[in-house]
Order: sequence, then structure tokens, then C-alpha cells
Amino acid sequence: MHMQRQKSFSDLRPTLYLVPTPIGNLEDMTFRAIKTLQEVDMIAAEDTRVTKKLCNHFEIQTPLVSLHEHNEWQKREWIVEQLQLGKSIALVSDAGMPCISDPGVQLVEAVLANDLPVVPLPGANAALTALIASGLTPQPFYFYGFLAHKKNEKKKQLAQLAFMTDTLVFYESPHRIKETLQVMLDSFGDRRIVLARELTKKFEEFLRGSISEIIEVCDGLKGEMVIIVEAGDGAAADIWWETINISQHVEHYIDQGMMTKDAIKQAAVDRQVPKKQVYHEYHQL
Ligand code: SAM
Repeated sequence: MHMQRQKSFSDLRPTLYLVPTPIGNLEDMTFRAIKTLQEVDMIAAEDTRVTKKLCNHFEIQTPLVSLHEHNEWQKREWIVEQLQLGKSIALVSDAGMPCISDPGVQLVEAVLANDLPVVPLPGANAALTALIASGLTPQPFYFYGFLAHKKNEKKKQLAQLAFMTDTLVFYESPHRIKETLQVMLDSFGDRRIVLARELTKKFEEFLRGSISEIIEVCDGLKGEMVIIVEAGDGAAADIWWETINISQHVEHYIDQGMMTKDAIKQAAVDRQVPKKQVYHEYHQL
């Protein structure tokens, strides 16, 4: 893409507004968010039923169209066309900021690729809300979002994060929380964490303690959750692969785009073992 310069408030071209919505407490809707949703020609919503309720509450009568992870690819072209026809559009997700572990990224890319302005509004977001009350160092922090659902994949992802010296921020659902914390304990050691759940809602709660302490009490915890993990000391930097086996180690490099041959070589170098051994193990010979 060529260099672009966008002057958000003197540009008269039709605009895509990225509008955050509450993550639980309706009072977290900003005046500007309401006004923007009232004034645009159309709202692209992740789930129109969810957004309809929000609109009813704030007397917003703007027409809704759906844009979710399964139709974003096709819908973005149509939305770009609508902008080109002179319509202004707001994008919302079900909760919090669009694009943050939510649909919207492809649309933003398409709008920018067509040289049209994208104007963001600040507002509710679960990660930052949890981080500022965590009591853990907020800078630098690394927002990961959701880990993979499959345990092996999750292990690989966490093994790579273990060496980082940033505070880590994850999204997780209640039925996976225990397994995730157990894998974190294996990968990170017993670091301090903060589990923030039901943020901004009636049952908002923060559990602050070591990973093993939180595992003890996390059975039956419900609601939406953010996990904040204390920064590591970098000690695991050279051995991020320690908690995965040789085959997973090779697969990791293949996933990153390496040829199998090179992935085997790199895993052998990391582990300081003969290439032949890695080759045999990977191909299960
Ligand atoms: N776009 C949203 C944002 O800006 O935070 C995130 C959407 S993502 C699909 C949903 C996840 O965010 C939940 O599974 C949970 O991890 C986290 N989340 C959303 N609302 C939350 C809340 N009220 N309390 C704690 N975590 C929340």
C-alpha cells in the first residue's frame, strides 16, 4: 500500500467509524458512540440481534447489516461500495472494541486499501480494563487474546511466550480456564496472575494469586474472563521448547513456514542433539 495521510476531522469523505460498545454495563456507552451510531447511514454489526437491543436502549434507529467472522470476507466489498456511494458506516461487535478478538480487521484493511478514512472511537475493552486493576506492571504488556482450543497447540503457544518479559494478557472462557491455567503452570512456572471476570457487571471479581492458588479455586467459576500473567524474567529464553516434544518442536518451525528439512535442522540446533535423532523422532522411524 502507498503512504497515506488521514485527517480524521477535516476529511469530508464517507467514513468507517469503529465504535466500541459496553462489555457488560450499558452505562459504559459514551455520548460520542451513541451520537455516531445515530448519525451514520448504517451500522455493520457482528450480531444484529445483540446490537438491536443496544440500539433500542439508546434510541438509535439506524439500519443494521450483519458482518461476522463467516461473512466478513464477502461483506467487506459491499461495505466498501456503500462508502464509495457516499454512505457513512459504523462497525460494532457484540461487546467491546471491534477488531480486538472480534471481526473487523479485514474490513478495515479493505477500506484503507480503497483510500477511505477509518475513524476509531475509544471505549470499553476487557483487556485494558482488567490490566489497569491487576496490580501487575502494565507496561510493557503483550495482548495475546484467545489461545488455541487444542491442548497441544496451546502448549506450543505458551512455550513460545514463556521467555517474554512483558506482562501477558489473555482472553479465556470459563469451561477452558482450568486446563489453560494448568498448561500455564507447566510453561511459565508458578507466576503471579490475575483472573478478572464479569468486568463491569454485577458479579465483577478479581482473583489475584499464584497460578497454583487460582487453579485451586477456579472450579465452577462462570462468566467472561481475562487472565493477566506477571512478566517473566527472560530466563526461559533459550528453552522455550522445553515443554514440547521433538515432533512438536519441528512442527512449530514448519508452521512458521520452514521446509521440513530446515525445521528438523533448526530443532536439532536448538536441542543440541544430532539431526538424525530429530529426523527419526519426527518421522517416527
Ligand atoms: N472485543 C472485545 C474487547 O474489546 O474486549 C473482546 C471480544 S472477545 C470475543 C470476548 C472475550 O473478551 C471473552 O471471552 C472474555 O475473555 C473477554 N471479555 C469480554 N467481556 C468481558 C467481561 N465483561 N469481563 C471479563 N472478560 C470479558
